Amino acid sequence: MDSPSNEHPTAAPSEAKEENEHIIQATKSLRRHMGLPEDPTEKSSSATASSVKQTFWVEVAPPSTRGAKCRLDGCPANIMPGQYRIAVYPGFHDFRGHQSSDFYHVVCFEKIADFSQADFVDQVEPVTRNTWSFRNLNSSSVLDGNYLLDAGAERLTISWKEAVKKLIDERDGVETKDDWSAAVRDLLDNAGSSKYVTQEIPDANAFQLRLLRSRLAPNESDGPDDTEEWNLFDEYLAPRDDDQKSLEDRHTLGATLFLWRDHVVLATSNNPTEKDKKRIEQELTPKAIRAIKRLAVTPMPDIQGAFLRGL
Ligand SMILES: [Zn+2]
Repeated sequence: MDSPSNEHPTAAPSEAKEENEHIIQATKSLRRHMGLPEDPTEKSSSATASSVKQTFWVEVAPPSTRGAKCRLDGCPANIMPGQYRIAVYPGFHDFRGHQSSDFYHVVCFEKIADFSQADFVDQVEPVTRNTWSFRNLNSSSVLDGNYLLDAGAERLTISWKEAVKKLIDERDGVETKDDWSAAVRDLLDNAGSSKYVTQEIPDANAFQLRLLRSRLAPNESDGPDDTEEWNLFDEYLAPRDDDQKSLEDRHTLGATLFLWRDHVVLATSNNPTEKDKKRIEQELTPKAIRAIKRLAVTPMPDIQGAFLRGL
């Protein structure tokens, strides 16, 4: 290297300080936007509570030539098509009645959103066939396959939220209530396992049930003799049950989605490099590859069902 070695030590501390200042300001600004006091130790009062709740949508960035700008000041990289991102909707920058979204890399958003607090975790939602209409998206773009999370990212985002909320409740000494009946919980946790027995779930949407039993099932099994069934959450979910330290790690959502996407790319590559081939051999069993390929697909809205119901 030709550059003088004394250049870096002088530049680095001030850059780090500047980045810290950006993050402190952006954190305060996000808290204000959510109607929370800037200082997290202050109790929120009804006077500061905003009437509009922002949702932190987890979605896939749609096609675009240059990608979207990340709203975290100082972030040098655009969010490129196909990457998971956070869309804060409604965003900070609304134009006369037209509500827009603010986009962030997941890891950038985690620098300013305090996911050890329920106020923040509660606002996280995956963009899926069931939720996209609340995200105010163009329907034809969604039906072209844009924005919606793949099956694995959908299950992981929802389970991340449940796991973090459970840890918060444990920390705060609050009993966690499961929103689901025992039969639905069994389906959500155990579908795909050879031990899973289909149960009747009254009033459930048949299309959704079919998906949860097949495409969205978190387990992959080689049959009744399989003692090492593959489980999506064991493989990729970063927050660990009964480990309060998971709450101190700001980046468990980003880490979960990063690890998942990394293996999706590896398992679905048509033309793996020599290095990738080695990684596949070391990291993925044939059962894992089968599971990842199944869960890498995006479940689309039930257009046919909606059309038939409309007749
Ligand atoms: Zn960023």
